Amino acid sequence: MKHNHNMQLYARQKRLQKRTEKRIIQAIEQMTKTLVAALTALAEAFKKAIEKMRVVKMKYSDLHVSQMPTSVTWECPHCGMENELSYTEFCTEYGEPCDWEYTKATCPRCGETYCLGNQEWE
Ligand SMILES: [Zn+2]
Repeated sequence: MKHNHNMQLYARQKRLQKRTEKRIIQAIEQMTKTLVAALTALAEAFKKAIEKMRVVKMKYSDLHVSQMPTSVTWECPHCGMENELSYTEFCTEYGEPCDWEYTKATCPRCGETYCLGNQEWE
């Protein structure tokens, strides 16, 4: 009877010990995860800061973006008729941009002749 009681006590102690061990392991795992996450974030922040310092020291080059002209629009100075041609069509009709100044055009609506004026590129 006494022996049996001791066995039960032993078994309970063993179970308690196992549960405690399990809790400790879980706590360590959780701490490890938190620590790894914190270190990863810190390393990332360091990397970014170093990269920024490198970039600040570097020379800069401005960008030049080439645009393709798509269309040309203009109004007849006599009757206000709005005209629009694709850039290619306009060049076929009136030549290259350097030739446009003083080039004459005739309005198909009012029949008046006028000169192509200033260019506004956008
Ligand atoms: Zn006109």
